[in-house]
Amino acid sequence: AIEIEALDKWYGHFQVLRNIDLNVTQGERIVVCGPSGSGKSTLIRCVNRLEEHQRGSIRVNGIVLNDSVKNLDAIRREVGMVFQHFNLFPHLTVKENCALPQILSRQKKRADAEALAMHFLEKVRIPEQADKYPGQLSGGQQQRVAIARALCMTPKIMLFDEPTSALDPEMVKEVLDTMVALAEEGMTMIVVTHEMGFARKVADRVVFMEAGEIVEANDPETFFNAPDSARTRNFLSNIM
Ligand code: ATP
Ligand code: MG
Repeated sequence: AIEIEALDKWYGHFQVLRNIDLNVTQGERIVVCGPSGSGKSTLIRCVNRLEEHQRGSIRVNGIVLNDSVKNLDAIRREVGMVFQHFNLFPHLTVKENCALPQILSRQKKRADAEALAMHFLEKVRIPEQADKYPGQLSGGQQQRVAIARALCMTPKIMLFDEPTSALDPEMVKEVLDTMVALAEEGMTMIVVTHEMGFARKVADRVVFMEAGEIVEANDPETFFNAPDSARTRNFLSNIM
């Protein structure tokens, strides 16, 4: 579970997050949307401390996110993240991309790490690409490798930051299908995306952010059909 309470964050003098309260229970799927610059990436990056917050609190599976390196290590073990631009290591094969983090930060034996890599590459349905380099794969395939690599660290929570927005349209579905399968297995997920079909299908709650605030958080039915806020309605009319 993720418990975010009264979170404030500044970049210098610019307040990017304002009084964010958000609780995500085990197995819950949250979709976050909102205009560019509203703080969506910053919010999820705060959850695994790729960004520091200045006020309020974040707890991940009971662990408080603060200056303690021990707590940070513990939280990083719980949380996996997938980015818009895959961030694969270009000089490593697909299999090595998935195996190396396990060897370096989990002290796994190479054979075990590679076996788990193959397990998750099968899960995202690209085992046949294992010995290729990222540059030899399509964008959709690379993103599925990035998902497999994150899963190899056996996270309990997955964060996705616009995982399909850098993809050609014909590749979006294969990545979303992978994410739907993960959701159906009960993974706790926060997904920043404007794929509203995915939100309708998978989300337990849809969160709309604007100017660093959560304007609305509702079940998809309410969110799309009868949003509480005029600002949500306005946003939806612009993107749908
Ligand atoms: P997008 O939809 O474009 O990805 P976003 O909702 O993810 O936008 P953020 O990336 O969280 O928005 O950025 C929120 C605001 O904070 C923006 O105004 C951005 O310019 C600013 N910002 C982001 N990162 C930094 C940084 N490292 N230093 C200063 N300002 C930043
Ligand atoms: Mg962003």
